[in-house]
Order: sequence, then C-alpha cells, then structure tokens
Amino acid sequence: MSAHLPDDRDAVREALIAWYEDDHREFPWRRTDDPYRILVSEVMSQQTQLSRVEEAYADFLDRWPEVADLAAAERGEVVSFWSGHSLGYNNRAKYLHEAATQVVEGEVGPADRPPGGGETAEAGGEFPTDPDDLQELMGVGPYTANAVASFAFNNGDAVVDTNVKRVLHRAFGVPDDDAEFAEAAADLMPDGESRVWNNAIMELGGVACGKTPRCDEAGCPWREWCHAYQTGDFTAPDVPTQPSFEGSRRQFRGRVVRLLGEHDEMDLDTLGHRIRVDYTPHGEHGREWLRELLSDLAADGLVQIEERNDLTIARLR
Ligand code: SF4
Repeated sequence: MSAHLPDDRDAVREALIAWYEDDHREFPWRRTDDPYRILVSEVMSQQTQLSRVEEAYADFLDRWPEVADLAAAERGEVVSFWSGHSLGYNNRAKYLHEAATQVVEGEVGPADRPPGGGETAEAGGEFPTDPDDLQELMGVGPYTANAVASFAFNNGDAVVDTNVKRVLHRAFGVPDDDAEFAEAAADLMPDGESRVWNNAIMELGGVACGKTPRCDEAGCPWREWCHAYQTGDFTAPDVPTQPSFEGSRRQFRGRVVRLLGEHDEMDLDTLGHRIRVDYTPHGEHGREWLRELLSDLAADGLVQIEERNDLTIARLR
C-alpha cells in the first residue's frame, strides 16, 4: 500500500477544520492556552482515560493553580495526590513537580534566558515555546513537548499518535512506518495552525475513526477522499483484523441510504459499484451481499426494492 494524499490539500484541510469547529468534545484543557495547564492535562492523559482525567485535572489546579504553586509544593504531596487519584506511575508526579521547578527557576528555554530566571521567573516562570526547548523539561518527551507547543503557543509540528496513524492509514493509505506517518502528517497540516489542526485530527481519530469506525454517524468530513471508506477495508496498524462485521455493515447501510437520497432510484449493480470499489456482481461482495443488505434496510422500512425488466431497483421508501 502506498500513500495517496489528495492533490487538493486545502479542501481536505478546510473540511476537517470546519467539522471540528462545528462540534467537538469540550475538555477543560481545550479552553485554555496556559502551558502549565496543558502540560498537566497531557501528563495526566498519558495513562488515564480522559473522563477520569477531567476530575483529577480540576482538583490538581484547585490545589496548585499556577506553575509557581506546584514548584513550591512538597514533592511528597504531589505524589500522594497522584496515587490518590489513580493517575498511574508516581514518577510522572515527580517529573511534573521537577518540571515546574525548572520553569520557575528559568532553567529551560532559549540559551539567552537570564540565569536564575530574571524577571520572568520572579513573575511566576515562563515556559519555553518551542518543542525542542520544551523537551528540556523533566519527563517531557517529544509527543508532550509538541502538544504543549501546539495547544499553548500554536507553535508545534503535526502530532502523530495512534489515533492519527489510524486515520492517515485508513484515509490515505499511509503505510505503517513512522517516517511515512510523520511526513504525511506534516504535509497535511496547514502552516502555523498546529493548535486547531492537531486538535481536529485527534478528534477525528477519537470520535469518528476509532477502532470501529463511525464514518457516517460522525459525519466524517473525509469520506469522499477516504480509501477505507471506499474499499470497506477498515484495518489499521492498531486494528489488524477487519473491525466487527456489524461495524462495517453499518457503514454500507449508511452509504446506501445516502446515495439513494441523492437519486430517485438505482439498480443493484450501479448502486454496488458506487458503494464499494471491490464490488463485482458475482464476487464475495456482489449482488448476493448487496441484496441481503437491501433486504435488511427494507425490513427496517427504509428502502423499497422492485424487480423490473430483469433489474433489481432500489429506492428510498
Ligand atoms: S471515512 Fe471513516 S475510515 Fe475514513 S477517515 Fe473518516 S472515519 Fe476514518
């Protein structure tokens, strides 16, 4: 499989950003551009489900609202907060505390930062703004550094995590190779828009293109370009076998209904070729398969089937 990014990158970008801006999950850390808050949410999310992170995040910030408050805390208090909220490895709490100290003491960032922190440190510390400098913070690897640079400073590179890989593999056939993923992700991201772009593509992987994809239900904005959507092959690096039959069957039901909504009526083969590229009348995904799908839709009262002049014609009911 080789990557085939659409020529019209702008259309792909605009479609995703519009979809994200129209509706997305509201997390408290999406409502801030404070690097400290974003770092806390990122470190917490590394091992913990987002729904649980929300509560811990709010409690953490009640207790240590600014980076200087965290730096001034006893390390033991931070660690017991961490284990008390079941946030995973306690080392992450130690590193986060250490990172806060580094910021407040002005130990990270551009080389010309005044030693000892200067005025900014006295005012509560200043975070570096680019991914390389952010990696100097204790416990902050390339992924977290890039997330903070993107969401706090709109200054990151394209994020590549498992969700993003799944999306790129399915949509544009990007092979399962880290360098290929990084190149495709960077190519797609609009210049200087890492904040909205990384949020949007991760949202796509989280709510539409999950292990069992919800292309139609989630109104995925990339359906018209998506390789998986057109072939029905929804495997991905983290989904080695085809997601549940019901999952992919739902996709095709949605697609039939949408196409019939755009046409008064369609005959079986025309419809088949339009809903999947591997349709062959007598093949595994051919007439027999499509008749069964249409019968289900008819039984659900959505579609009407008629035999006319040796053709099977379907229309919406
Ligand atoms: S159409 Fe489906 S498989 Fe393709 S990117 Fe969208 S959600 Fe993923």
